Amino acid sequence: MSKKLITNLNEMETSKPFISAQYSEALYKNATHILGFCFDGTTSFRPGARFGPDAIRDASFGLETYSPYLQKDLEDYSIVDCGNLPIYPSKWKLTNDYFHGITKDLKLDQDKIKFLTLGGEHSISYGPMRLYLENFSELVIIHLDAHTDFRDGYLGEKFSHASIMKRIWDHMTPKNELIQYGIRSGPREEFEFMQQNNTQAQSLEELLSRIDQLSPKRAIYLTLDLDFFDPAFLPGTGTPEAGGESFHSFIKIMKVLSKKNLVGADLVELAPTIDPTGNSSAFASKVAREILLTLQP
Ligand code: MN
Ligand code: MN
Repeated sequence: MSKKLITNLNEMETSKPFISAQYSEALYKNATHILGFCFDGTTSFRPGARFGPDAIRDASFGLETYSPYLQKDLEDYSIVDCGNLPIYPSKWKLTNDYFHGITKDLKLDQDKIKFLTLGGEHSISYGPMRLYLENFSELVIIHLDAHTDFRDGYLGEKFSHASIMKRIWDHMTPKNELIQYGIRSGPREEFEFMQQNNTQAQSLEELLSRIDQLSPKRAIYLTLDLDFFDPAFLPGTGTPEAGGESFHSFIKIMKVLSKKNLVGADLVELAPTIDPTGNSSAFASKVAREILLTLQP
């Protein structure tokens, strides 16, 4: 591993690292960093996503490090787990400011620094997506979710989980592109907004072809809300929606993305206590492995 960039991660809460990742108190060049953001303070229906990051790590010990889908092995890459951001209960802004503080001077592209941020509710994706928009002027954001998430604030919270894509849209320019898929719930105006801006892929085939048409060098960020998947597969999430996608659809997306330039991702909305069988955590953990491998060139 190459030289350390930042050593002041000492406020991070340690936890058992994701399988095959080393625990790290620093950020490194040429490495992928796992960060937990254990926040669910604006969750509107069923909280519990704050336990998501550690449940994903715990379940990872039942996983192989090798993915037969992508034919890549976690052990062949520099992947570190920095633990969880310091959490100030119901203080999203303070944790977000902490994230901003440790990442604002990074040169993600030049130094090949990548992040997989584990939520937490979807509002936690704000800091990572802003960071990536600042670092990559032509960033493409792929948003996989059951929900539109385009509300301009929800239940009095401007930075609600139900507003995350609106908050990010505010920072996007005509040079950026947003591609959404899996969306099956939201108010009529938000579906009309997506239609007007041509952000929503209407089928898996359309999504795959839109990704396939991107230049291989163009930076792509993935924000994946686990309610994208059908609740039959993944019931452990705060706002489940019938009619979702399968693991196999997800793998098709990862296979196309792995030929492109995926530079960062977040994985949010696992609420492990809602599914005491542990199956949702095991599912989410396998999804995390595939994302980590897709992030590797
Ligand atoms: Mn959702
Ligand atoms: Mn969402």
